[in-house]
Amino acid sequence: MFRQFLSQNSVFSRSVVRYVPQIRTQSTTDEPLFDMENPFEKERQQCLLCRHKIIPNYKNVKLLSQFQSPYTGRVYGKHITGLCDTQQKLVEAEIIKAQNAGLMATYLKEPCYLKDPKLFDADNPIRPHRF
Ligand SMILES: [Zn+2]
Repeated sequence: MFRQFLSQNSVFSRSVVRYVPQIRTQSTTDEPLFDMENPFEKERQQCLLCRHKIIPNYKNVKLLSQFQSPYTGRVYGKHITGLCDTQQKLVEAEIIKAQNAGLMATYLKEPCYLKDPKLFDADNPIRPHRF
């Protein structure tokens, strides 16, 4: 009885027969599609300042003080800040410039910036120190 039903309205068999050549015409070759993006491409790693396109300036004391230790006033190293080489050098140069201009403290962080949000955790460096 089930066979009769299949033969009477063979929707399944027809659809399969129609479907197979369509698939073959779509992918006759195994060559990749060239206009397709590489799905395995990794996202480019960028540092904090490069990602937000921030250029450190000696007048932007609020930003620069975030790279300064609240205890010693020293600038955090690259392994803690996670900045790239150029940005780290720029930040250090601008901090020295700001300190020479009298805008920033040298041996401690300005107390008004102590409650600023922390960009990184100084106790857990991003990379281990090279020494
Ligand atoms: Zn960078």
